[in-house]
Amino acid sequence: MDRKINVNFYFLNMKKNNYILFLLFFISQVSLAQFSPQSKKITEKFFPKNEKIENITPALQKKKGYTNYEELITFLNGLVTQHPDKIKLTFIGESQKGKQIPIVYLTNQNGNQKLKVWMQGGLHGDESASTEGMLYFLYKVLNDKDYTNLLDNLDIAVVPMANIDGYLKEDRYSANGLDLNRDQTKLMAQETVVLKKAFTAFNPELGLDFHEYRPFRKDFAEMGNFGVTSAYDAMFLYSGNLNVPLNLRKITDTLFVENAKIKMIENGFKPRNYITTQKYEGNIEFNQGSNSARSSATNYALNNMISTLFEIRGVGIGKTSFKRRIGITFLIAISYLETASSNTELIKNEIEIANNLTNDVVVTSKRTIYKDSIKIIDLETDELIDFEITIRDALQTKPILKRKRPIAYIIDKNQNEIITKLKVLGITIEELNEDIELEVETYTVSAYNENTEKYENMNLQNIETILNNKTILFPKGTFKIPMNQKRANLIIEILEPEAPNSFVSFGVLETKLNQELPIYRLSKKN
Ligand SMILES: [Zn+2]
Repeated sequence: MDRKINVNFYFLNMKKNNYILFLLFFISQVSLAQFSPQSKKITEKFFPKNEKIENITPALQKKKGYTNYEELITFLNGLVTQHPDKIKLTFIGESQKGKQIPIVYLTNQNGNQKLKVWMQGGLHGDESASTEGMLYFLYKVLNDKDYTNLLDNLDIAVVPMANIDGYLKEDRYSANGLDLNRDQTKLMAQETVVLKKAFTAFNPELGLDFHEYRPFRKDFAEMGNFGVTSAYDAMFLYSGNLNVPLNLRKITDTLFVENAKIKMIENGFKPRNYITTQKYEGNIEFNQGSNSARSSATNYALNNMISTLFEIRGVGIGKTSFKRRIGITFLIAISYLETASSNTELIKNEIEIANNLTNDVVVTSKRTIYKDSIKIIDLETDELIDFEITIRDALQTKPILKRKRPIAYIIDKNQNEIITKLKVLGITIEELNEDIELEVETYTVSAYNENTEKYENMNLQNIETILNNKTILFPKGTFKIPMNQKRANLIIEILEPEAPNSFVSFGVLETKLNQELPIYRLSKKN
């Protein structure tokens, strides 16, 4: 999940001439594109090789570099040739540079009522073990008797290389510089659009998004005497968003995450809930969990399903511990699929309950802040130490602004861009088939602030609104978004204007002070 960082911070504490030598060394290493800031000692002591992983995927069969596009397609075609009854390869659309994005569907057609699982790797192009882990998984679930029975209860869709252009450049971003895991409500990259279309057409009940994280963060150089590095093999990022039904959040935590953590510990790996640093008024603090609809963990969960994003320790260390990282990706995938396979009925029932909730909606919220201790590797001593930190916890989110859940949202008939995006997100839209007077709540902008700095190429708008009751004559063709649908909780995050990832907040729908928005809340049956 990490953003790009400057790599020269490791040398801040060194003497000047050493610094220059190291800088020269560094430059020579970077050109090899396999540079790792991690010492051999740390690798051997904390992250030893996983010898159990077989060389069955393209990048494991070569010394340098990762799976390229031709190797990816050849590998997938090879699986289709061997198992035409169980795997189907197709393409969801094109990347910005014109590469077809493959998806594979796995099923054994035994007639069971299956649970549907979406799996994805490579949404960030520099998180190479995520793609390789998906390829490893595909081979194993089709060929290894220990895993083939997973298809008895599960239908699985896998996108192994979601951000192809980024992956081929070993770059986090898509070709136009957008972060595809910040784009899931505004939908400004074509990859996001085709991924969402495939996702909603498949309509999964469990969504797994595999990533890697950067263990040598810029902020980590300021911690300890000589900097620190993360000790966790994998971190689990799941949603604390209050619009995600509580029963689904609980199952994610106490069943899926818990089982996977146990499995990791049994195999000698260190798991944790996801944390990442952010500076608040100059102090390094740690964000835990997720509540943001622009990213997959929460965006998926808002579709009323079980969802987790996995962060394996790997960005910026080249192919160091590559087999270990692939092995952990695979281990976690198998754990989630086993948990799903043995709880299909429970999960379907809980989703059904979630689909019928009518609780208030949460428009804005805040994280709970507290002190905690984490394990971290001290680069001065190469020892695992306890480190006191401040955590801002999205898994303990508290509401700030709540509203009654409407029975529908009404949108003016000229708002085609918004409607197109809602359709991509799988949201059912009706149109009024005659002119009709409706008693609605309107939003009038009572405070407006446009951020001067662009975020993800968008002009963010920070607004407050006042709700008023009005009777309005809406013409035939006006859009109506009913809330008695599966993705209702996602609708809230997109259409309630003050919600942090809404169309208004992201500037998809531009507004100004005192303007009445073209979105209305319908609360009474007319
Ligand atoms: Zn990532």
